[in-house]
Amino acid sequence: MSEDLTTFSAQQLAAKIKNKDVTASEVTQAHFDRIEKLDKKIESFLYLDKAAALEQAKRVDKKVAKNETLSPLAGVPLALKDVMTQRGVPTTCGSKILENWRPPYDSTVVKRLKENDVIILGKVNMDEFAMGSSTENSAYQKTKNPWDLSRIPGGSSGGSSAAVASFFAPLAIGTDTGGSIRQPAAVCGIVGTKPTYGTVSRYGLIAFASSLDQAGPITRSVMDAALLNEVIAGYDPLDSTSINQSTASLVAAANTKDLKGMKIGVIKELGGEGWQEGVVANFNQSIETLKQLGAEVVEISLPHSLYALAVYYLIAPSEASSNLARFDGMRYGLRVGDNGEKDVEAVMNLTRAQGFGPEVKRRIILGTYALSTGYYDAYYGQAQKVRGLIAEDFKAAFEKVDVLVSPTSPTTAWKLGERVDNPLAMYLADLATLPPSLAGVPAISVPIGLAKEDQMPVGLQIIAPAMQDHKNYQVASAIEAAQGGLLIDQIKDLASLV
Ligand code: GLN
Repeated sequence: MSEDLTTFSAQQLAAKIKNKDVTASEVTQAHFDRIEKLDKKIESFLYLDKAAALEQAKRVDKKVAKNETLSPLAGVPLALKDVMTQRGVPTTCGSKILENWRPPYDSTVVKRLKENDVIILGKVNMDEFAMGSSTENSAYQKTKNPWDLSRIPGGSSGGSSAAVASFFAPLAIGTDTGGSIRQPAAVCGIVGTKPTYGTVSRYGLIAFASSLDQAGPITRSVMDAALLNEVIAGYDPLDSTSINQSTASLVAAANTKDLKGMKIGVIKELGGEGWQEGVVANFNQSIETLKQLGAEVVEISLPHSLYALAVYYLIAPSEASSNLARFDGMRYGLRVGDNGEKDVEAVMNLTRAQGFGPEVKRRIILGTYALSTGYYDAYYGQAQKVRGLIAEDFKAAFEKVDVLVSPTSPTTAWKLGERVDNPLAMYLADLATLPPSLAGVPAISVPIGLAKEDQMPVGLQIIAPAMQDHKNYQVASAIEAAQGGLLIDQIKDLASLV
């Protein structure tokens, strides 16, 4: 067997397994071999679940041998963001406070992956509690961007994006609260989707900001993202915000390659002055491509999107300050100072002081302040109102157009260390991804070439109305096809790594 199984898409691998060209065991082993050879340089995985993955692969091979009906992604390897609980497997959320915690249950996303015979290779790195845009807030390791090892892979799902871009797995699960799937996908030159809020269950997704958190696919091709999105989405009574309604077929939409009759709005407020020149140049180029594909393109204003950053950095920390109260050293993971002499409060204080990193503490303090008596209405209350106005902007826009577009992120991947001492510079990476998050609408990032000044990947963000995720897949796959070949294939051999 001379072909390198790590270079194929999830769709191709599933077909090869089904046709008995290769076994799921061979596919899984090939990915582990690559990880073992190269992840020393990338540092994407926190934990490899080798025995269980190979065991799972064997079960798929037995099904194939018996000619049983297979799920569309049966036998395909996946990297799981360490924010999702998986029974018996260490789940740290990138934090010391959860070190060595092994959850007693599977998140719904993991349950669905297992039921669909997707092979979970292990857990990948992330910013602590998903707070960050570079994965440098992980308490464990600094993940690198495979395009340039001196740069960040984006965040908070930087382990997921780096693993997929390094061909360690064709599929990864990320989570997105304000951009954490789309931005890492964009800066690593791959595809990332934030589904409509409520379509993918949050049960077992360790909460950062519950009104925004959403799990979704990170993949190299649009079709693979559609396939994975269909596997993980669906109503779940265990999540009170789960929507009991299904979207149109995403896979069918990813097969449509033309945009005739489609109306696309370019968001006026995103992508102008102050944005990296090469990012804007590639974005403008992609608008020309959309026109050539048959779409009508108009400019659309979302006036309140300018306030999205301020609104998000009140709402998300407020929810985090409440959600993270459960990490008290009593129930999970780390406990500090329990020597039989200290009282409960002292142990909780010591545990939280040592267990949380600086960004998490900053958010807890910010959120607690915004929610405190006398300030609640002025900060959290106001932010909620403006969030409503942002959502109304989208509603009005979608009366005129089918989808909206913007660059995914103002810049390409920056150098490791460049923004660690400047939280505001880090937050600015979320300018374009926050408005759709606050509105709860679906968005996807698809690669649109390399920026001229640094030869690093640029992403196009496509945004659709709630429950119309298929439109994002249609536009993304049309752009992908028009570009001819996947951008990421340029570093298939990872010459810089080998
Ligand atoms: N960068 C944003 C933050 O730090 C978004 C993170 C996310 O989507 N999880 O909050």
